[in-house]
Amino acid sequence: MQAARVLAVLALAFLSVGMAPRERIDYTLTPILTEGALVAVEVDLRFRGEADGETALSLPDAWGGQAELYRAITALEAVSGAQLREGAGPAQRLLSHRPNARVHLRYRIVQDHEGPPMARGGNPYRAVVQPGYFHLIGHASFITPEGWDEAAPVQLRVRALPRGWRFASDLEHDGLTLGGVGRSISVGGDFRIHHGADRNIRVAIRGDWGFSDASFVAQANEIISGQRNFWGDESTPYLVTVLPLEAPNPRARSVGGTGLGDAFAFFATANTEESRITRTLAHESLHTWLPHRIGGMSAQNEVGDYWLSEGFTDFYTARMLVRQGLWIPADYAADFNATLSAYAHSTARTAPNARVAEAFWTDQDMQQLPYQRGRLLAAIWDRRLRAEGRSLDVLMHAMSARGGG
Ligand SMILES: [Zn+2]
Repeated sequence: MQAARVLAVLALAFLSVGMAPRERIDYTLTPILTEGALVAVEVDLRFRGEADGETALSLPDAWGGQAELYRAITALEAVSGAQLREGAGPAQRLLSHRPNARVHLRYRIVQDHEGPPMARGGNPYRAVVQPGYFHLIGHASFITPEGWDEAAPVQLRVRALPRGWRFASDLEHDGLTLGGVGRSISVGGDFRIHHGADRNIRVAIRGDWGFSDASFVAQANEIISGQRNFWGDESTPYLVTVLPLEAPNPRARSVGGTGLGDAFAFFATANTEESRITRTLAHESLHTWLPHRIGGMSAQNEVGDYWLSEGFTDFYTARMLVRQGLWIPADYAADFNATLSAYAHSTARTAPNARVAEAFWTDQDMQQLPYQRGRLLAAIWDRRLRAEGRSLDVLMHAMSARGGG
């Protein structure tokens, strides 16, 4: 009975939290420079505390294969309206305050490791604070009130940018909510910021590449607006960031990235060809729809559904790059042949799908199998549908219209 009563009280507590209208939560970023070099990004965080006089704070912790992201958070203090104390662990703090008090917190984001971002073992998701710029993924940088409604309104501003510095973030737009703070990218410093032909599409890029900014911006614009056209979506703000990585040796080549809802963050060595970046962008941005808008993934066995989410995405990636004129048919043929060849030579070629789920993270060939099989399956199904005067596109649109996850 005791347990039942505790549960009932907890349920009430959640209800009251969920129902309380939230005032806006404000984040203000300020670059902190010493002798002209950036050393930290200061964050002023203002919100109204909870009605019971205590508000828990969530610090960055585990995300994207990284751990202890709170190491980038320093000098956290309650400037006014509350007292700060330790929480349940290093990723939590507790605030005591008068009921519903206006609280002002301040902290600094620093880089918790040495040197410029490197191409070495996965994407550098941790906060990057270099003398001339910063690169902050929300999950790695922002403290949030714990357990609050994701729909709570949020505003983010930047102030005191040094002369000549630029700033871009997918947190700048109207209608920002607490749920969007983690899945975000904010960059500032010597980034160059461009708009696409669709003004909603922005690119923030720094460093020197083997291609021009103008060419990359035009391709990113074509990819994103072309995909939106295909799925019948309206134009909304979208930010693509490109962070150059130092290579451990001149021959090393690396390109990776992560989708952040209304943004995509790239990490690449400067020797990366533009075509590899654009193919990655086309694939990753298609994940907005595949699989989420056509019905989502199995919660129990996500890897078992990769033939659909990854394979069909690869099928549409190549097809749309041709449709949008970024690839000529010969590019498509070369890319498709690479898949056919890799599949033919794969040691996992005859493995059942159940094996993929078991060995996906440990066997390179097994990892590629759902990409290859799903792509080939989509091509076969599309051919059969076209023979009957239909196409896979019609099916995808119907699934999307039916409302996925
Ligand atoms: Zn993918």
